[in-house]
Amino acid sequence: MIPFAGLALTACGTSVAEHPNVIYIFPDQYRNASLGFWSDPEFAQWVGWRGDPVSTPNLDRFAREATVLSGAVSNCPLSSPHRGMLLSGMYPERSGVVLNCMSERPESSLREDAECISDIFSAAGYDCAYIGKLHVDYPTKNNPQRPGTYVSDAVPEWDAYTPPERRHGFNYWYSYGTYDVHKHPHYWDTEGRRHDVDEWSPQHEISKAIEYIENRSSQRDARKPFFLMLGINPPHSPYASTEDCDLEGYELYRDKSLTELLVRDNADTTMAKAAAARYYFANVSGIDREFGRLMRTLEEAGLTDNTIVIFASDHGETMTSHSTADPKNSIWSESLNIPFLVRYPGRVPHRVDDLLLSTPDIMPTVLGLAGLGDRIPASVEGRDFSAILRQDAVQPERPRAALYLRNLDGERDAAGLVRGFFPEARGVKTPSHTMELCIDRDGRLKRVLMYDDRQDPYQLHNLSPEEHAELFASLCGELAVLLRENNDIWYRNRVLEEWIPYDKE
Ligand code: CA
Repeated sequence: MIPFAGLALTACGTSVAEHPNVIYIFPDQYRNASLGFWSDPEFAQWVGWRGDPVSTPNLDRFAREATVLSGAVSNCPLSSPHRGMLLSGMYPERSGVVLNCMSERPESSLREDAECISDIFSAAGYDCAYIGKLHVDYPTKNNPQRPGTYVSDAVPEWDAYTPPERRHGFNYWYSYGTYDVHKHPHYWDTEGRRHDVDEWSPQHEISKAIEYIENRSSQRDARKPFFLMLGINPPHSPYASTEDCDLEGYELYRDKSLTELLVRDNADTTMAKAAAARYYFANVSGIDREFGRLMRTLEEAGLTDNTIVIFASDHGETMTSHSTADPKNSIWSESLNIPFLVRYPGRVPHRVDDLLLSTPDIMPTVLGLAGLGDRIPASVEGRDFSAILRQDAVQPERPRAALYLRNLDGERDAAGLVRGFFPEARGVKTPSHTMELCIDRDGRLKRVLMYDDRQDPYQLHNLSPEEHAELFASLCGELAVLLRENNDIWYRNRVLEEWIPYDKE
């Protein structure tokens, strides 16, 4: 027997015993309210809204072993911009991902030279794996099966193949760009081989994650700690029929009325979309079952204590609230607020915290939790809040506000390609209020949204800036600070400077 074999140093100097494994799992469009534990008084006292009537027993158990954030924010609540911020710790203008990635938007793609969370983990001696939906790459004609073509014949192309040089330190790959046929997904593996599968995608991806953790075919270097990101696509749309959803989960909601399912005061059960709630919640419960399977694997492998597990999402889902058909890309809390649960046994105590965590804070916070706070690159614009999660004696100042961004397509060139972006809206979320300013293409104020989230958690009463002038001025002041700190295009162009005090110290 080799003494202290478990403490052996890897080539880069990181030891398995010193640094924990990390699993970051983020189903797409999974809203914070769709977690069963929010209906439990211990958790319900932290939020002003009712939790969805969903069954998530595995996540409920996990929440009682985790720190649960009630107020985590997806600052640009849309798939690609969120993922760019998550991976790079930078706001969209710096990550490169200002719009959703598709073939008509060549300017929206994760910068190849961005130092991403996986680059840092890899350099620190981790084995790094990505499984599932990525959606931060601009689709190009790089189909490994048919060189010189896109990966499918769709126009415009949304799906993308990510070649090794764009994988940012991930050495194990089983991923795709974006593709929404939940029961017939496909993936490209580390070598670029394509796999077409007839299985509900979360189930298949959890099975791949389990194989990776159990290291059945030497997928990973067992001497190293691992960093595993799991980008699950459901409960993302489509959610129109049992073709789109987990059938076991569907049984739980099949016989419930729409008014039993849509319990928020701002839900509109008269919308055609309301019927989607049944399939959306079916997928929520199916994901919970698969998450439970993954946690049992960790337990059986004896890895629970030395593995940080985070459950989150890229943005929420409005699901008929505010009578909007758009599930995301709005400042309303159903879209902006994401689940964020962190379990790290013995290091992160069980509690609920209303920390206003912004998406660019995730990378530095995860690195900080893993003991790699000294490796956070200077390019990162978020902050390391791991000391708050650990409840250290010395903690950083808490954020007073989080920035909200909404960008639309800019002009198109002669070839029909989108050039640049139009920054349609900027806003601010504070512990007590939400405020958004929206402009037209001439830069004039088009709409103001302003809510008192404590008095009005469903954001039913849009407060008028004239009648609440002091509040409006104060929120415009918070917005000015965030836009200036982020060197946002609104700050550089002094957009709405008659309301936003950009230069006031
Ligand atoms: Ca998404």
